[in-house]
Amino acid sequence: MAFAFKNRIPSADEVLAEIPLKKDLAQAKAKRDKEIRDVFEGKNDKFILIIGPCSADNADAVCEYVSRLRKVQEKVQDKILLIPRMYTNKPRTTGVGYKGMAHQPDPNEPPNIIAGIKAIRRMHIRALEESGLPAADEMLYPGNSPFLADLLGYVAVGARSVENQQHRLTASGMDIPVGLKNPTSGDLSVMLNGIYAAQQPHVFIYSGWEVETTGNPLAHAILRGASNPLIGNLPNYHYEDLINTMEYYLEKKLAHPTIIVDTSHANSGKKFEEQPRIAKEILVNRNFSDLLKKSVKGIMLESYLVEGTQKIGGGVFGKSITDACLGWDDSEKLIYELADLL
Ligand code: PEP
Ligand code: MN
Repeated sequence: MAFAFKNRIPSADEVLAEIPLKKDLAQAKAKRDKEIRDVFEGKNDKFILIIGPCSADNADAVCEYVSRLRKVQEKVQDKILLIPRMYTNKPRTTGVGYKGMAHQPDPNEPPNIIAGIKAIRRMHIRALEESGLPAADEMLYPGNSPFLADLLGYVAVGARSVENQQHRLTASGMDIPVGLKNPTSGDLSVMLNGIYAAQQPHVFIYSGWEVETTGNPLAHAILRGASNPLIGNLPNYHYEDLINTMEYYLEKKLAHPTIIVDTSHANSGKKFEEQPRIAKEILVNRNFSDLLKKSVKGIMLESYLVEGTQKIGGGVFGKSITDACLGWDDSEKLIYELADLL
């Protein structure tokens, strides 16, 4: 047999009992969740900024980053709600390479998934304690969701997963906003069908149970640009892209039509330094259309302590080992500039 059964994975109940979320933190999170929910439901017009590294590869660096975000959040709280991006699972274009902290708690060491699951839970709790801001993570493996379900404030379904049934059905049972990205081909119908599926109730197998979900009305779109093998990157954040997407979105009669724009990936051609320009363009363009102003509710940015990217083992604290990120100083400056534009 080609599978070697190495270790039995503990249940989510066991992991939660070993690494619990304290009651006061759970209460603070519920309060913040409500603030974020109000934006998606159109009851509050603050702007959402999901910001942080491509991969949360080092708990100390990530916690330093989110503690800095906390101070910035206080200064822009009238206009912007910050959601730290803390991605602990990484999808890879060819399937190989660093798969995130859940697989490799130490990127320099071989995979250790039991240690990884505990490490991501500990990191999310510590970050919540130190920042007060529930984070965003990617749902790459829907079966792993119960390990973090009580901690996350936002979940994204990536470009390579958005057509997958289990992702869509799992999103339908979540009570926080779930952003579904356009696929790497750029086909918006795949993303909108994903949102439709996530907003419906379903019965399916989850976590060893037959479960029934209610459907998630906060499932929404994330535009991340497309990649065409002949042309290269095809951004989808410009004015016409947003208008066309919204018109198509509205035809589908989905609940709370909302766009978050990812300023990285195929929108920036992975040139991290383009992100401030893209973010500002989006805010300026919103002012030309009531429809966009109402429905483009936020931006996602890849940002870390130190700008750029390094190889695994490069040794620079707070520098990305996956996609290149905007550095802290430029990120902080950008957040204030965005607040001024709002
Ligand atoms: C990411 O957010 O780092 C990522 C891999 O995104 P996408 O699924 O859009 O490629
Ligand atoms: Mn990335």
